[in-house]
Amino acid sequence: KLSTAAEVDELITPSVEIRYTKNLINGKFMDAASGKTFPAYDPRTGEVIAHVAEGDQEDINRAVSAARKAFDEGPWPKMTPYERSRILLRVADLVEKHNDELAALETWNNGKLYEQAVNIEVPMFVRLLRYYAGWADKIHGLTVPADGNYHVQVLHEPIGVAGQIIPWNFPILLFAWKVGPALACGNTVVVKTAEQTPLTGLFAAQLFQEAGLPPGVLNVVSGFGPTAGSALASHMDVDKIAFTGSTDTGKIIYQLAAKSNLKPVTLELGGKSPFIVCEDADVDKAVELAHFALFFNQGQCCCAGSRTYVHERIYDEFLEKAKAAALRRVVGDPFKKGVEQGPQVDSQQFEKILKYIKSGVESNATLECGGDRIGTKGFFVQPTVFSNVQDDMSIAKDEIFGPVQTILKFKSVHK
Ligand code: NAD
Repeated sequence: KLSTAAEVDELITPSVEIRYTKNLINGKFMDAASGKTFPAYDPRTGEVIAHVAEGDQEDINRAVSAARKAFDEGPWPKMTPYERSRILLRVADLVEKHNDELAALETWNNGKLYEQAVNIEVPMFVRLLRYYAGWADKIHGLTVPADGNYHVQVLHEPIGVAGQIIPWNFPILLFAWKVGPALACGNTVVVKTAEQTPLTGLFAAQLFQEAGLPPGVLNVVSGFGPTAGSALASHMDVDKIAFTGSTDTGKIIYQLAAKSNLKPVTLELGGKSPFIVCEDADVDKAVELAHFALFFNQGQCCCAGSRTYVHERIYDEFLEKAKAAALRRVVGDPFKKGVEQGPQVDSQQFEKILKYIKSGVESNATLECGGDRIGTKGFFVQPTVFSNVQDDMSIAKDEIFGPVQTILKFKSVHK
């Protein structure tokens, strides 16, 4: 039994068909050059829901050369900003039309709550597209006063082919955050989606085509990091690489960019953010906020409040209430109303979290609740709380990226 609440409503069955599993290159969906595919899973069960074209070096080469041509010869960077803006606004309208389908696909492949995907994340995708579309014709430069008879100006121009690599925790939002600004400014793009969640990026890519984006302007390649991702980061014809993911991979991306054509790099990496509760805090409110800060999105959030520091005077009361909140948390099928926590994204993340829990116990932190999987299939983890956590324990230092709250005690914020 996965759901811990008797009152959860009916299951909302995913009403979406998986139609796009091939790489989008130069406006066409195509198989991988190698013919290989890899499985996409339903994290609720661990079952395979689709076989997706597995891009590698050759597919990245094809995608980059399509993007290069679309930038150098194509209409996109030469279109008026207003025309680019109109296409992006049309994409936003199409995403809005397919809101529920995209949300269902997001939940199906990622395990996040359907309520969250349908009411927040896909609508936010629409909003982001409209926001960036609005920028297309408002990017202006500077004139700089100079001595003598000179005219000095700063003109912002598209950089060229942007390579973009994204993780799996907010697949559709990360896609929008990367693609939206790059396209609005007139760049062409090759996106390498996360291997855990390739499906919604491909669905969205189709909507960009339907909206009239010229071929080659947006290319989407599914595949793994060390093959497709690294081919993109080290490609000589990619003018800039934007990456969101773990800190370790970020270091590799930097090196690949430097060793190839020294392309500029933007990195958005992991974290281990402190949530500090001072002695004069409203304890109930602080417990509620700290709980949300950590457990939101199954704990899979780069800015999760993953070290909860509580002042010693209110520590015991806070701990008792934080534990009660974790025990109340409703874990179950993310398509069910009333469920607050779905499965972790895949078996690898699931195993990693259980390993961290074991290490917490071994290092003598106190396991207050949770600590195990739920059920026998899928990747569900019990909401877990540790007390008596010390700064040097790996559960206090490393990004666990799961529903594991570590509560530390402090005397003074000044040390
Ligand atoms: P990851 O670094 O393993 O993977 C992210 C992406 O990089 C994937 O597309 C993957 O295929 C690719 N990749 C992996 N190895 C590569 C390589 N050698 N060369 C090129 N590409 C490679 O990260 P993850 O574990 O999938 O994602 C979770 C991480 O992302 C967490 O650390 C989280 O904090 C971080 N994150 C950060 C933000 C942010 O905005 N700062 C947002 C979301 C997630």
